[in-house]
Amino acid sequence: MELLQPADWPEALEARAAHPGAVPLWGGTDVMVDLNFGRERPEAILDLTRVRALTEWEERDGRLRVGAGVTYTRAIDELGERLPGLAAASRTVGSPQIRNRGTIGGNLGSSSPAGDALPPLYASGAEVELASARGTRRLPLGEFITGPKRNVLEPDELIAAFHVAPAQGPQQFSKVGTRNAMVIAVCSFALALHPEERRVGTCIGSAGPTPIVATEADAFAAERLDWDGGTPPQQADLTRFGELVGAAASPIDDVRGSAAYRRHALSVLARRSLAWAWGER
Ligand SMILES: Cc1cc2nc3c(=O)[nH]c(=O)nc-3n(C[C@H](O)[C@H](O)[C@H](O)COP(=O)(O)OP(=O)(O)OC[C@H]3O[C@@H](n4cnc5c(N)ncnc54)[C@H](O)[C@@H]3O)c2cc1C
Repeated sequence: MELLQPADWPEALEARAAHPGAVPLWGGTDVMVDLNFGRERPEAILDLTRVRALTEWEERDGRLRVGAGVTYTRAIDELGERLPGLAAASRTVGSPQIRNRGTIGGNLGSSSPAGDALPPLYASGAEVELASARGTRRLPLGEFITGPKRNVLEPDELIAAFHVAPAQGPQQFSKVGTRNAMVIAVCSFALALHPEERRVGTCIGSAGPTPIVATEADAFAAERLDWDGGTPPQQADLTRFGELVGAAASPIDDVRGSAAYRRHALSVLARRSLAWAWGER
């Protein structure tokens, strides 16, 4: 197997265009598992770890641009105040070794509905920046991820970064798993409050072919919350919000949990998350 190791971003894009069959690699925490289990035998590996530009992040004009090679550990340490939902999700990923190695770009590249970085990014309206020698394009995550482990990345494209606004209000991330660490989510839920716009953003993880934004629940909560007075949400409204989130999920029965359990758990996570987030205002 050929190993391509571009030294910088232009070289990486050139290599990608010249070797469309090569599998990009950063932390390798998904790629190496597939190789080791013989699920994948690519003609080449495109190792991006020498491309320094991918490790950078910046804040400009009220938006963050975070390079695809930023690890979970760095997201927690460096971006935790600006992106508390993503940081909370990052803390639940794997173990310290996986968080030191694995990247949010890799989570986007794998496009698994169980990818923990994805729900907070959806809930905050993030966009992914894709690049090739032909140019760059930016897409909302809902347009980038099209199915389980499927996305619209072209064979000559790489993920350059994601773009997202720093939190404008409280953010929450909750995950149900069969143990506390090193666990794939049975289901997960992310919530972002945008008090200035009087808007609520949500996303369900691991309970459908892709992460799912619970749009009806968002609209319901946005209308019912007492944005001016700040009184806590009524129990009946929290319950209804939870029901709407559960109804938006599209889970299956599998080894990790039944569809019915996932819907129920999501309803509970949703109503708790909304109450917690409101309490943090
Ligand atoms: C023990 C263990 C525990 C884990 N626990 C969790 C967990 O709790 N939650 C969770 O969400 N995940 C978990 N994972 C999965 C994995 O760590 C994450 O998906 C991680 O984000 C992958 O990042 P990476 O940099 O290692 O990606 P890689 O393995 O290098 O790549 C992943 C995919 O993205 C593509 N890719 C990477 N970078 C780019 C780029 N710049 N442009 C285009 N394509 C790119 C690769 O080709 C590949 O398809 C775990 C994995 C292991 C081995």
